[in-house]
Amino acid sequence: MTTITEEKTISKFMKKLTDRHPGEDEFHQAVQEVVESVHDFIEANPHYKEANILERIIEPDRIVIFRVTWEDDDNNIHVNRGYRVQFNNAIGPYKGGLRFHPSVTLGTFKFLGFEQIFKNSLTTLPMGGAKGGSDFDPKGKSDREIMRFCQAFMLELHRHIGSNIDIPAGDIGVGGREIAYLFGMYKKIQNNFTGTITGKQLNMGGSLIRTEATGYGCVYFAQEMLHHIGEDIRGKVCVVSGSGNVAQYTAEKVIELGGKVISFSDSSGTVYDEEGVTEEKLNFVKDLKNNRHGRIKEYAEKYNVPFYEGKTPWHIKCDIAFPSATQNELNLTDAKELVKNGCICIAEGSNMGSTPEAIHYFRETKTLFGVSKAANAGGVAVSGLEMAQNRMGYSWTREDLDERLKTIMKKIHQQCLEYGQSTGYVDYVKGANVAGFKKVADAIIAYGTH
Ligand code: NDP
Repeated sequence: MTTITEEKTISKFMKKLTDRHPGEDEFHQAVQEVVESVHDFIEANPHYKEANILERIIEPDRIVIFRVTWEDDDNNIHVNRGYRVQFNNAIGPYKGGLRFHPSVTLGTFKFLGFEQIFKNSLTTLPMGGAKGGSDFDPKGKSDREIMRFCQAFMLELHRHIGSNIDIPAGDIGVGGREIAYLFGMYKKIQNNFTGTITGKQLNMGGSLIRTEATGYGCVYFAQEMLHHIGEDIRGKVCVVSGSGNVAQYTAEKVIELGGKVISFSDSSGTVYDEEGVTEEKLNFVKDLKNNRHGRIKEYAEKYNVPFYEGKTPWHIKCDIAFPSATQNELNLTDAKELVKNGCICIAEGSNMGSTPEAIHYFRETKTLFGVSKAANAGGVAVSGLEMAQNRMGYSWTREDLDERLKTIMKKIHQQCLEYGQSTGYVDYVKGANVAGFKKVADAIIAYGTH
């Protein structure tokens, strides 16, 4: 917990940040978490203060904003905005996903790009932090419209990326289909088949396990946290939010490890399946979301289970919670409800899935809390392995990659233990932030000022 003097320094720092980046609440939130976590570490290691690292690390290296003009199936012309925030490349080329969602703003990409710096550092792989995307809404669009949008988007983005410069990937609204359209256009414009985008399909240089990696990695991380307190996922009841990429493969791994998944959700509501999601039901969700692009309510109709319209799943009694939809999807009321109902562990698949008040409550009640930049780093870690395979012109096997993913998640957990010890509790937020920060800050100092 911070003291009054610390609070004063932190609030002064935050005031400067909010004045400089007005109205970007999510970015302020992400920075505040890091600043609070690394404060003591910086005080104990004054060379970071002398090098003014904090102020340098919160300023993106570069931001590109561009117009994307595309034509729908009825020949109407639309304009969307494209973004790429290249935040920091101290330890490797810029790396981070693309999000297509109508709610995004520049602040969203600053928050995501900032988080990505520390996450990528934790993976132990040489990758800097970036994020980008568009306010384009893929919902209800035809396949051809998605294709035309992706091509128009890449028509501009291609100038700013490259296999040793900046390597985008998927995120909300950008899956295998979109990546193929984006990479296809990139390769055509550049006449260069290099690993400039990850999350590619296997027949175009993609990596096995990449699709599964964020969800699987999140469950491996939860398993590490549980093992550390002498518990295991086997037999545990798990609540999962979302029903996209991360949610699907989180559920798959939980089931494989002997846990029971009892929920999925999307922006229209939550399905509660008390009997537990089976392999067959999971395949239904994959087909529904990945091929038919339908609503999760159909699950409730097909399997005759309750659907809670407009609700998140956190009121459902469970042992473990996996937020896997979007930022700030779990608030203080949800946190209290989860803990009251006996939940012992939260592992964030979604980026910044919990509000600061919810995180504070989890820490106060010493509930295991796997913060997103640690728990969901498996996706970008396997993206890093995809880059390595592309460079070698060689593919590792599924077993090999799964083993590497497990090892990376274990290493991330160890780094959290090393830097996150608190009295009688592992503070994974502090551990992840300090460990991620240290590596990047050391590199920035070593480069000198420029
Ligand atoms: P998908 O687009 O595959 O799925 C997103 C899911 O979240 C959908 O079920 C969607 O419902 C729901 N969702 C999105 N926005 C909202 C919202 N505002 N309110 C309620 N539900 C919402 O995305 P991913 O599974 O890839 O991403 C999920 C989270 O995981 C994001 O926070 C992302 O940043 C993070 N993440 C993803 C990684 C990856 O490898 N894909 C890597 C690391 C983190 P609906 O269809 O109704 O919009």
